[in-house]
Amino acid sequence: MTTLQDCLALDAQDPLRTLRALFTVPPGVIYLDGNSLGVMPAAAPARVAAAVTQEWGEGLIRSWNSAGWFALPQTLGDKIAQLVGAGAGEVVATDSTSINLYKVLSAALNIAAQDAPQRKRMVSERSNFPTDLYIAEALCRERGLQLQLVEAEEIATALTSDVAVLMLTHVNYRTGAMHDMAALTAAAHAAGALTVWDLAHSAGAVPVDLRGANADFAIGCGYKYLNGGPGAPAFVWVNPRHANRFWQPLAGWWGHAAPFEFTPDYRPAPGITRYLCGTQPILSMTALDCGLDTLLAAQPLGGMAALRKKSLALTDLFIALVEARCAGHGLGLATPREHAQRGSQVCLTRDTGAYAIVQALIARGVVGDFRAGDGGKHPDILRFGFTPLYIGFEDVWNAAEHLRQVLASGEWQRPEFNQKHAVT
Ligand SMILES: *Cc1c(COP(=O)(O)O)cnc(C)c1O
Repeated sequence: MTTLQDCLALDAQDPLRTLRALFTVPPGVIYLDGNSLGVMPAAAPARVAAAVTQEWGEGLIRSWNSAGWFALPQTLGDKIAQLVGAGAGEVVATDSTSINLYKVLSAALNIAAQDAPQRKRMVSERSNFPTDLYIAEALCRERGLQLQLVEAEEIATALTSDVAVLMLTHVNYRTGAMHDMAALTAAAHAAGALTVWDLAHSAGAVPVDLRGANADFAIGCGYKYLNGGPGAPAFVWVNPRHANRFWQPLAGWWGHAAPFEFTPDYRPAPGITRYLCGTQPILSMTALDCGLDTLLAAQPLGGMAALRKKSLALTDLFIALVEARCAGHGLGLATPREHAQRGSQVCLTRDTGAYAIVQALIARGVVGDFRAGDGGKHPDILRFGFTPLYIGFEDVWNAAEHLRQVLASGEWQRPEFNQKHAVT
């Protein structure tokens, strides 16, 4: 069994170890929630302060040009493109994941309505992140389509000749289970359907190859593994073969071909720029820029492939330590053991007390989170995200040891840990 000593040795040999210095991890905290809100990049406070005091305070409106504000969606989009297997000029950073999903789903349904109007169904996964399902449900209602929710293993058989769009999240937020993007995209295309991929738990977490998978549309989140800060802008990618086919429904002036001509009629910009709507939150954009730079700093050290290798080593280790040292305490594993099916998180299950155990861990500085089950097929989850940019092997050992102590002592049963907060 791996010992603490072994973990220290693994950290000492870790070629990515230097990247931790790019972050401000609070002292005494083992942060296993980068899948929900990434740690602050050390460069962010000064960068955001400069954007406030110099770019805004002094530059004022001139900064739209002189500080590159106007081009930030594309500038940041090109950085994100390098992390998800997209080309330069194919991604914009903008709006929220939910809003971008609305845009790309609408565009996908427009394409389907033109090319295959008999297709009246959208397929997604029942355990997909709720906002994705809600946006899909609203669009299906509006357009008279049926939204069919299936379990992961039922997706292939659900792809029949009346399916217009397959909408999936690449890595499941609850379980960390990862789909085979290339295989499911090929299956959807073989059935005549378009694919929309949500990369919220993939971008910056696992290697993604949108072009290689021949995907159609993708969106993703800026504040999780991209470390962009709370409410950071999200991103959107459209395969170039579709990008110019339709307007997206939020056809605002930033998506116009010539916004500063101020013409009364809309003329969409070519390519991904038409997926912009209106004025962007520039201060949030500057923070996201710092987050993206932390990932690009890993490029010379092997990039996403190296991060992935370390992520799998961290999650393998956590699973092994929990199973060896926390045995007999009713924990189960919801995350696939198979590497090809695992994102960058480990999700444990427990019939009772999952929320309180997470609270007790947080009180000890081990920050994970809790996701409620449905009382049926999907149990309550203790969720631990492993961001290899700033998490090390010693952290994993200590986190498992804290979990062991919380369970062995019954500490989690204290009333204060059983009080539900608004955000879990
Ligand atoms: C985190 C997450 C979102 C978040 O959407 P917001 O618009 O940022 O609130 C959406 N989808 C998935 C799959 C997520 O994991």
